[in-house]
Amino acid sequence: MSNTVTEVALPGVQKVASGKVREIFDLGEHLLFVASDRISAFDVIMPTGIPNKGKVLTQLSKFWFGHLQDIVPHHLISADFDDLPSELREQAPFLRGRFMIVKKLEMFPVECVVRGYLVGSGWREYQESGSVCGIPLPSGLAQAQKLPEPIFTPAIKATDGHDENIPFSKMIDMIGAEHAEALRKVSIEIYQRAAEHALKKGVVIADTKFEFGLVDGRIVLGDEVLTPDSSRYWPLPEYRTGSNPPSYDKQFVRDYLETLDWDKTPPGPELPEQIVQGTAERYSTCFETITGTSLKGV
Ligand code: ATP
Ligand code: MG
Repeated sequence: MSNTVTEVALPGVQKVASGKVREIFDLGEHLLFVASDRISAFDVIMPTGIPNKGKVLTQLSKFWFGHLQDIVPHHLISADFDDLPSELREQAPFLRGRFMIVKKLEMFPVECVVRGYLVGSGWREYQESGSVCGIPLPSGLAQAQKLPEPIFTPAIKATDGHDENIPFSKMIDMIGAEHAEALRKVSIEIYQRAAEHALKKGVVIADTKFEFGLVDGRIVLGDEVLTPDSSRYWPLPEYRTGSNPPSYDKQFVRDYLETLDWDKTPPGPELPEQIVQGTAERYSTCFETITGTSLKGV
Protein backbone atom coordinates (compact mmCIF):
# COMPACT_ATOMS: atom_id res chain seq x y z
CA MET A 1 0.00 0.00 0.00
CA SER A 2 1.48 3.32 -1.06
CA ASN A 3 0.87 5.28 2.14
CA THR A 4 2.31 2.57 4.36
CA VAL A 5 5.90 3.07 5.48
CA THR A 6 7.74 -0.12 6.38
CA GLU A 7 11.30 0.84 5.42
CA VAL A 8 12.92 4.14 6.34
CA ALA A 9 16.03 5.40 4.57
CA LEU A 10 17.12 9.02 4.74
CA PRO A 11 19.93 9.75 2.30
CA GLY A 12 22.85 11.52 3.92
CA VAL A 13 21.58 11.07 7.48
CA GLN A 14 23.27 8.53 9.71
CA LYS A 15 21.06 5.80 11.11
CA VAL A 16 22.10 5.01 14.67
CA ALA A 17 19.62 2.29 15.58
CA SER A 18 16.86 0.24 14.16
CA GLY A 19 14.26 -1.45 16.36
CA LYS A 20 11.28 -3.63 15.54
CA VAL A 21 9.22 -0.56 14.71
CA ARG A 22 11.39 2.55 14.88
CA GLU A 23 14.51 3.90 13.19
CA ILE A 24 16.77 6.42 14.89
CA PHE A 25 18.94 8.91 13.05
CA ASP A 26 21.64 11.31 14.19
CA LEU A 27 20.96 14.97 13.38
CA GLY A 28 24.13 16.19 15.08
CA GLU A 29 22.96 17.98 18.20
CA HIS A 30 19.67 16.06 18.29
CA LEU A 31 18.26 12.66 17.38
CA LEU A 32 15.48 11.95 14.90
CA PHE A 33 13.07 9.17 15.89
CA VAL A 34 11.01 7.81 13.00
CA ALA A 35 8.11 5.42 13.64
CA SER A 36 7.43 3.09 10.74
CA ASP A 37 4.11 1.32 10.12
CA ARG A 38 5.64 -2.07 10.94
CA ILE A 39 3.72 -4.29 13.32
CA SER A 40 4.96 -7.28 15.25
CA ALA A 41 2.87 -10.11 16.65
CA PHE A 42 4.15 -13.03 18.71
CA ASP A 43 7.51 -11.17 18.51
CA VAL A 44 7.69 -11.52 14.71
CA ILE A 45 7.60 -8.48 12.42
CA MET A 46 4.85 -8.93 9.84
CA PRO A 47 5.74 -8.33 6.18
CA THR A 48 2.63 -6.15 5.83
CA GLY A 49 2.50 -2.73 7.50
CA ILE A 50 -0.49 -0.97 9.07
CA PRO A 51 -1.16 2.39 7.37
CA ASN A 52 -0.66 5.33 9.74
CA LYS A 53 0.36 3.17 12.71
CA GLY A 54 3.65 5.09 13.03
CA LYS A 55 1.75 8.37 13.03
CA VAL A 56 -0.62 7.15 15.72
CA LEU A 57 2.25 6.02 17.95
CA THR A 58 4.17 9.25 17.44
CA GLN A 59 1.20 11.54 18.05
CA LEU A 60 0.05 9.53 21.05
CA SER A 61 3.53 9.71 22.56
CA LYS A 62 3.55 13.47 21.94
CA PHE A 63 0.17 13.79 23.66
CA TRP A 64 1.43 11.93 26.72
CA PHE A 65 4.68 13.91 26.96
CA GLY A 66 2.54 17.06 27.16
CA HIS A 67 0.12 15.50 29.61
CA LEU A 68 2.93 14.48 31.98
CA GLN A 69 5.35 17.35 31.65
CA ASP A 70 4.44 19.01 34.92
CA ILE A 71 5.63 15.82 36.64
CA VAL A 72 8.78 15.15 34.61
CA PRO A 73 10.56 16.89 31.72
CA HIS A 74 10.70 14.96 28.42
CA HIS A 75 13.10 14.73 25.49
CA LEU A 76 10.72 15.86 22.73
CA ILE A 77 11.86 19.05 21.03
CA SER A 78 9.55 19.10 18.04
CA ALA A 79 7.28 16.94 15.92
CA ASP A 80 6.49 19.80 13.50
CA PHE A 81 7.30 19.08 9.90
CA ASP A 82 8.49 22.67 9.44
CA ASP A 83 11.22 22.10 12.02
CA LEU A 84 12.90 19.36 9.96
CA PRO A 85 16.05 20.33 8.03
CA SER A 86 14.94 21.55 4.57
CA GLU A 87 16.68 18.66 2.71
CA LEU A 88 14.62 16.18 4.70
CA ARG A 89 11.36 18.04 4.07
CA GLU A 90 12.08 17.79 0.36
CA GLN A 91 13.45 14.25 0.22
CA ALA A 92 11.30 12.55 2.81
CA PRO A 93 7.73 13.94 2.84
CA PHE A 94 6.63 10.59 4.30
CA LEU A 95 8.11 11.72 7.62
CA ARG A 96 5.16 14.04 8.27
CA GLY A 97 3.41 13.04 11.48
CA ARG A 98 5.71 10.11 12.24
CA PHE A 99 8.89 11.67 13.60
CA MET A 100 10.16 13.32 16.73
CA ILE A 101 13.24 15.48 17.04
CA VAL A 102 14.54 14.72 20.52
CA LYS A 103 17.29 15.72 22.92
CA LYS A 104 20.18 13.30 23.13
CA LEU A 105 20.05 11.72 26.55
CA GLU A 106 22.55 9.67 28.46
CA MET A 107 20.14 6.75 28.92
CA PHE A 108 19.81 4.74 32.10
CA PRO A 109 20.35 1.09 31.12
CA VAL A 110 17.11 0.07 32.80
CA GLU A 111 13.56 -0.27 31.53
CA CYS A 112 11.21 1.23 34.10
CA VAL A 113 8.20 -1.07 34.06
CA VAL A 114 5.09 -0.22 36.06
CA ARG A 115 2.29 -2.76 36.49
CA GLY A 116 -1.16 -1.77 37.64
CA TYR A 117 -2.84 -5.11 36.89
CA LEU A 118 -1.81 -8.73 37.35
CA VAL A 119 -1.24 -10.13 33.89
CA GLY A 120 1.29 -11.71 31.54
CA SER A 121 4.59 -12.76 33.10
CA GLY A 122 3.51 -11.11 36.38
CA TRP A 123 0.45 -13.35 36.60
CA ARG A 124 2.56 -16.46 35.87
CA GLU A 125 5.06 -15.56 38.56
CA TYR A 126 2.34 -14.73 41.09
CA GLN A 127 0.75 -18.15 40.62
CA GLU A 128 4.07 -19.82 41.40
CA SER A 129 5.38 -17.61 44.18
CA GLY A 130 2.70 -15.16 45.33
CA SER A 131 4.97 -12.29 44.33
CA VAL A 132 5.93 -10.38 41.18
CA CYS A 133 9.61 -9.62 40.61
CA GLY A 134 10.21 -10.25 44.29
CA ILE A 135 7.41 -7.91 45.42
CA PRO A 136 5.03 -9.87 47.67
CA LEU A 137 1.32 -9.41 46.86
CA PRO A 138 -1.85 -10.25 48.78
CA SER A 139 -3.08 -13.81 48.23
CA GLY A 140 -6.20 -14.65 46.26
CA LEU A 141 -5.73 -12.19 43.40
CA ALA A 142 -7.25 -13.19 40.04
CA GLN A 143 -5.70 -12.93 36.59
CA ALA A 144 -5.96 -9.35 35.24
CA GLN A 145 -7.06 -8.04 38.65
CA LYS A 146 -6.14 -4.48 39.52
CA LEU A 147 -3.31 -4.41 42.06
CA PRO A 148 -3.86 -2.61 45.38
CA GLU A 149 -1.06 -0.22 44.29
CA PRO A 150 0.91 -0.10 41.04
CA ILE A 151 4.26 -1.87 41.38
CA PHE A 152 7.62 -1.01 39.87
CA THR A 153 9.37 -3.98 38.24
CA PRO A 154 12.55 -2.87 36.44
CA ALA A 155 14.02 -4.87 33.57
CA ILE A 156 17.11 -4.89 31.41
CA LYS A 157 17.50 -5.86 27.79
CA ALA A 158 19.05 -9.31 27.72
CA THR A 159 21.53 -10.14 24.97
CA ASP A 160 18.88 -12.09 23.04
CA GLY A 161 16.85 -8.86 22.82
CA HIS A 162 14.20 -10.01 25.28
CA ASP A 163 13.59 -8.20 28.54
CA GLU A 164 14.84 -9.70 31.77
CA ASN A 165 13.32 -8.62 35.06
CA ILE A 166 15.76 -7.53 37.72
CA PRO A 167 15.25 -6.96 41.45
CA PHE A 168 15.21 -3.33 42.56
CA SER A 169 18.43 -4.04 44.50
CA LYS A 170 20.17 -4.83 41.20
CA MET A 171 18.93 -1.54 39.77
CA ILE A 172 20.49 0.21 42.76
CA ASP A 173 23.78 -1.60 42.10
CA MET A 174 23.65 -0.49 38.47
CA ILE A 175 22.73 3.19 38.75
CA GLY A 176 22.89 4.07 42.44
CA ALA A 177 20.21 4.36 45.10
CA GLU A 178 19.39 8.00 44.49
CA HIS A 179 18.64 7.60 40.80
CA ALA A 180 16.94 4.22 41.26
CA GLU A 181 14.57 5.64 43.86
CA ALA A 182 13.87 8.76 41.86
CA LEU A 183 13.04 6.70 38.76
CA ARG A 184 10.79 4.37 40.71
CA LYS A 185 8.88 7.28 42.21
CA VAL A 186 8.42 9.21 38.99
CA SER A 187 7.52 6.07 36.98
CA ILE A 188 4.71 5.18 39.36
CA GLU A 189 3.48 8.75 39.43
CA ILE A 190 3.28 9.16 35.66
CA TYR A 191 1.73 5.72 35.22
CA GLN A 192 -0.98 6.67 37.72
CA ARG A 193 -1.63 10.00 36.05
CA ALA A 194 -1.89 8.35 32.62
CA ALA A 195 -3.96 5.37 33.75
CA GLU A 196 -6.44 7.68 35.43
CA HIS A 197 -6.83 9.75 32.27
CA ALA A 198 -7.20 6.66 30.07
CA LEU A 199 -9.75 5.07 32.38
CA LYS A 200 -11.97 8.14 32.12
CA LYS A 201 -11.89 7.59 28.36
CA GLY A 202 -12.78 3.91 28.67
CA VAL A 203 -9.31 2.40 28.29
CA VAL A 204 -7.38 0.39 30.88
CA ILE A 205 -3.60 0.80 30.75
CA ALA A 206 -2.62 -2.42 32.47
CA ASP A 207 1.13 -1.86 32.47
CA THR A 208 3.76 0.14 30.71
CA LYS A 209 7.47 0.72 30.24
CA PHE A 210 9.35 4.00 30.47
CA GLU A 211 12.94 4.85 29.65
CA PHE A 212 14.74 7.79 31.18
CA GLY A 213 18.03 9.53 30.67
CA LEU A 214 20.04 12.43 32.00
CA VAL A 215 20.73 15.88 30.63
CA ASP A 216 23.00 18.04 32.77
CA GLY A 217 22.33 15.74 35.71
CA ARG A 218 18.55 16.10 35.38
CA ILE A 219 16.21 13.13 34.88
CA VAL A 220 14.36 13.36 31.56
CA LEU A 221 11.69 11.04 30.15
CA GLY A 222 12.84 9.57 26.83
CA ASP A 223 11.91 7.03 24.19
CA GLU A 224 8.22 6.67 23.27
CA VAL A 225 5.67 6.77 26.06
CA LEU A 226 2.37 5.04 26.75
CA THR A 227 1.80 3.77 23.23
CA PRO A 228 0.07 0.45 22.64
CA ASP A 229 3.54 -0.85 21.65
CA SER A 230 5.05 -0.03 25.04
CA SER A 231 1.95 -0.67 27.16
CA ARG A 232 -1.00 -3.02 27.47
CA TYR A 233 -4.17 -1.19 26.44
CA TRP A 234 -7.48 -2.90 27.14
CA PRO A 235 -10.90 -1.59 26.13
CA LEU A 236 -12.81 -1.14 29.41
CA PRO A 237 -16.09 -2.66 28.16
CA GLU A 238 -14.32 -5.98 27.50
CA TYR A 239 -12.26 -5.96 30.67
CA ARG A 240 -12.91 -8.92 33.01
CA THR A 241 -10.82 -10.53 35.68
CA GLY A 242 -10.13 -14.26 35.47
CA SER A 243 -8.83 -14.27 31.89
CA ASN A 244 -6.34 -12.36 29.78
CA PRO A 245 -8.28 -9.37 28.37
CA PRO A 246 -8.01 -8.70 24.61
CA SER A 247 -5.53 -5.96 23.72
CA TYR A 248 -6.91 -2.82 22.10
CA ASP A 249 -4.73 -2.96 19.03
CA LYS A 250 -3.07 -6.29 18.39
CA GLN A 251 -5.73 -8.79 19.36
CA PHE A 252 -7.37 -8.51 15.96
CA VAL A 253 -4.10 -9.48 14.23
CA ARG A 254 -3.35 -12.21 16.75
CA ASP A 255 -6.83 -13.72 16.35
CA TYR A 256 -6.38 -13.79 12.58
CA LEU A 257 -2.93 -15.37 12.89
CA GLU A 258 -4.35 -18.08 15.16
CA THR A 259 -6.59 -19.19 12.28
CA LEU A 260 -3.53 -19.93 10.12
CA ASP A 261 -1.24 -22.88 10.01
CA TRP A 262 1.77 -20.70 10.93
CA ASP A 263 4.31 -21.75 13.57
CA LYS A 264 4.98 -18.20 14.84
CA THR A 265 8.56 -18.11 13.65
CA PRO A 266 9.86 -15.70 10.98
CA PRO A 267 8.92 -14.96 8.30
CA GLY A 268 5.41 -13.91 9.25
CA PRO A 269 2.56 -14.26 6.75
CA GLU A 270 1.21 -11.36 4.67
CA LEU A 271 -1.87 -9.87 6.28
CA PRO A 272 -5.03 -9.62 4.15
CA GLU A 273 -6.52 -6.20 3.37
CA GLN A 274 -9.44 -6.65 5.75
CA ILE A 275 -7.13 -7.37 8.70
CA VAL A 276 -4.88 -4.46 7.76
CA GLN A 277 -7.82 -2.03 7.56
CA GLY A 278 -9.42 -3.34 10.75
CA THR A 279 -6.15 -2.95 12.63
CA ALA A 280 -5.56 0.55 11.22
CA GLU A 281 -9.02 1.56 12.41
CA ARG A 282 -8.31 0.25 15.88
CA TYR A 283 -5.11 2.31 16.11
CA SER A 284 -6.81 5.50 15.02
CA THR A 285 -9.77 4.90 17.32
CA CYS A 286 -7.32 4.37 20.15
CA PHE A 287 -5.69 7.72 19.40
CA GLU A 288 -9.00 9.55 19.17
CA THR A 289 -10.32 7.95 22.35
CA ILE A 290 -7.28 8.87 24.42
CA THR A 291 -6.60 12.35 23.06
CA GLY A 292 -10.10 13.50 22.12
CA THR A 293 -8.67 14.76 18.81
CA SER A 294 -8.51 13.39 15.29
CA LEU A 295 -5.38 12.36 13.41
CA LYS A 296 -6.59 14.26 10.36
CA GLY A 297 -4.58 17.38 9.81
CA VAL A 298 -1.42 15.95 11.37
P1 ATP B 1 12.50 -2.70 20.39
O1 ATP B 1 12.00 -2.65 19.00
O2 ATP B 1 12.36 -4.02 21.04
O3 ATP B 1 11.98 -1.54 21.24
P2 ATP B 1 14.99 -1.35 20.62
O4 ATP B 1 14.65 -0.82 22.00
O5 ATP B 1 16.39 -1.77 20.36
O6 ATP B 1 14.06 -2.54 20.24
P3 ATP B 1 14.05 1.13 19.68
O7 ATP B 1 13.04 1.16 20.80
O8 ATP B 1 13.62 1.57 18.35
O9 ATP B 1 14.63 -0.29 19.54
O10 ATP B 1 15.34 1.92 20.10
C1 ATP B 1 15.29 3.06 20.82
C2 ATP B 1 16.63 3.23 21.51
O11 ATP B 1 16.87 4.61 21.74
C3 ATP B 1 16.62 2.55 22.87
O12 ATP B 1 17.88 1.97 23.08
C4 ATP B 1 16.41 3.72 23.83
O13 ATP B 1 16.98 3.47 25.08
C5 ATP B 1 17.13 4.84 23.11
N1 ATP B 1 16.66 6.19 23.39
C6 ATP B 1 15.39 6.61 23.61
N2 ATP B 1 15.33 7.95 23.79
C7 ATP B 1 16.62 8.40 23.66
C8 ATP B 1 17.24 9.70 23.74
N3 ATP B 1 16.52 10.80 23.93
N4 ATP B 1 18.58 9.78 23.60
C9 ATP B 1 19.32 8.66 23.37
N5 ATP B 1 18.81 7.41 23.25
C10 ATP B 1 17.47 7.28 23.41
MG1 MG C 1 12.69 0.02 22.49
